[in-house]
Amino acid sequence: MSVPKPPLTVQELVARGAPGGMDEGQIVALTRYWAQLLALKTPEANDAVVGMVGNIAQRSLANIVAPGTFACKKGCAHCCNFHVGLFAPEAFRIARQLRRTPQVRDALADVAARVVGVAPMQRSLLRIPCALLHRNACSIHPFRPHSCRAFMSMDVLACIAAVDGRPSEIRSDKTYDLTEGRIGVAFLAAMGAAGLFMRSYEINASLTMLLDDPGLEARWYAGEDVFESLEDGLTRTDGAIAETLGDLIWHARR
Ligand code: SF4
Ligand code: SF4
Repeated sequence: MSVPKPPLTVQELVARGAPGGMDEGQIVALTRYWAQLLALKTPEANDAVVGMVGNIAQRSLANIVAPGTFACKKGCAHCCNFHVGLFAPEAFRIARQLRRTPQVRDALADVAARVVGVAPMQRSLLRIPCALLHRNACSIHPFRPHSCRAFMSMDVLACIAAVDGRPSEIRSDKTYDLTEGRIGVAFLAAMGAAGLFMRSYEINASLTMLLDDPGLEARWYAGEDVFESLEDGLTRTDGAIAETLGDLIWHARR
């Protein structure tokens, strides 16, 4: 009888990415480790977790999907017209990078003002790309939110149709989607286990707020929902996901 292999440790997972998806033991280990770090409520621990989320997602992509499967490439940026929601820990890390180029603040504020009140599903019809898109490339590519990182398409024409508001099915790879979904749920559950808000916020507006007031990060850690007015309602913690989230949060707190 063969002895089952132990799940990869968190460090191995982050270094290698999910080899072909991720099993339950790996998800629980990731969630618990990230929750412990997030509970420290420091910028260093925050950025370490968000960096790990990005690393494991990036390496998993290379492990799971054959080159050429997706149509995505540098210079293709129709998807940057869609609504982008990000979690506060991601926004904190991106804002730290953007403070090195303070001129971006006005571009973010301009886009935020033009899309305010627009329903996320109608956002692309305005043809106002994310303020972080420069010359059709993401100016924060290594730091982009998980929602941008996970969004991949096999057919650019389907993306263009969706941006135009025409009926469209954006096809991805099932194993890739499952893995990215699990990474996202682990990140969300880690926030919940650490007692943080599990909500997503519009990217341009939340980054403008953080560039205007760096003190918001400490207030958010202290339990003040400083981004409440920006909540986009797209992060679901009820319905089918509730049981998985609840289980993961329970395990992460043990
Ligand atoms: S998701 Fe679509 S629009 Fe975005 S980079 Fe990929 S193919 Fe291009
Ligand atoms: S953060 Fe980067 S990838 Fe995401 S929408 Fe903005 S420019 Fe595009």
